[in-house]
Amino acid sequence: MTGTAADTTAETTDLLQVLIRNACVNDGHVESGKEERSVGALEAYLGTAGLDVERYEPKPGRTSLVARIEGTDPEAPSLLLMGHTDVVPVNPDGWSREPFSGELVDGFVWGRGAVDMLNITASQAVAMRRLAESGFKPRGTLTYLAVADEEALGTWGASWLVEHERDAVYADYVLTESGGYQMATPEGIRLPVLTAEKGTFWTKLRVRGTPGHGSQPFRTDNALVTAAEVVRRLSEFQPDAHMHEVWRRFVDGMHYPPELHDAMLDPAQLPNVLAELPLGMSRLVHACTHTTFAPTVEHGGTKTNVIPDLVELEVDIRTLPGQTGEEALALLREALGDLADQVEIESNDDPSTASPIDTPLWDSLTRVTGRLVEGSALVPFLMVGGTDNRFFRRAGSVGYGFALFSQRLSFEDYATMFHGNDERVDVDSLGLSEQLWEAVAHDLLD
Ligand SMILES: [Zn+2]
Repeated sequence: MTGTAADTTAETTDLLQVLIRNACVNDGHVESGKEERSVGALEAYLGTAGLDVERYEPKPGRTSLVARIEGTDPEAPSLLLMGHTDVVPVNPDGWSREPFSGELVDGFVWGRGAVDMLNITASQAVAMRRLAESGFKPRGTLTYLAVADEEALGTWGASWLVEHERDAVYADYVLTESGGYQMATPEGIRLPVLTAEKGTFWTKLRVRGTPGHGSQPFRTDNALVTAAEVVRRLSEFQPDAHMHEVWRRFVDGMHYPPELHDAMLDPAQLPNVLAELPLGMSRLVHACTHTTFAPTVEHGGTKTNVIPDLVELEVDIRTLPGQTGEEALALLREALGDLADQVEIESNDDPSTASPIDTPLWDSLTRVTGRLVEGSALVPFLMVGGTDNRFFRRAGSVGYGFALFSQRLSFEDYATMFHGNDERVDVDSLGLSEQLWEAVAHDLLD
């Protein structure tokens, strides 16, 4: 290594501030994001280190960057460090500081993207440069991907790259967001590794009625009234909890007291556990163990004096590992009950993805984190949202969500800041993650 830990922490902090200030806000439109600006900054930062750097731009401004240290043995396992450069929109009203200032205050860098996930994008870039400068010549190839468009389904980012530029980005092992916050247990710190993520089964429901005059509502077939009942049924629907493998291994690894341990794995007792947990944690535990149904959008009606004949609803349905689209549809029909046949259902199935837990990458992370976080051990965990890992898992990679956070950032902090107000990260977390990437590259690829 060419620098001290303090140097690399300062360098990661500087780079993170640049990425935050670039404000690559992705609102879902193809002309938003403009990630080319952060790719430019990363290219300037990496460019002098002798790395092999390429740009990919499927749409103007939607640029991704690939940097590579070629391995000496084509048969050796390869590793991809992947961070997205785009961020979600922000409403500054809820913030105590300017969201794109990148201000450093009391050891925290503030700004949209500080934990999702410019912190990782920056620390991975610093690790790449450090490794290149140190003359790192691994057996297996190490690739860094600063990817566009993660926050809008990866269409112009990871999805496009895996489909059109597979050779440039594919690796046997992938590390990307998020995981790695320190969770205290009686047996020491546990670090969650996101080995699987839920699927999306986004659904549009068309509820039809018969138009009529709003002055005579008696016994009319009003689509809005039917839609209200559909929404009520969806919000009250309680499908059974499903204790899948990732959940079981997480609960086992957390060393809960025996009674709580058993209750967390028992569908009959889980509702009592959910009632006792703090709100943030109960939402997460519920999402980890259930197919979820959230009605989120409603369009309908034309005029105050017209009985509406069409209402369209959108429902954010999230599926569990191993669950098929048919199973999700059956649950949806169960929720709708006798209204199921009156509603047109149009769904887009993007199933859950998972990587095995017992892999060389897991072993490597175990060795490295044991050194970096004293008394820690890894536990598998389920990502309840989506990440770019899904494209790589489907292409054959083992993909985990992992980084490291210091104890200055609790899980509750982390969860509320994700896409939320006052997003910020402490510089110790940045330094820890940077050390993690360097150490894993040595451990796994040498
Ligand atoms: Zn993210």
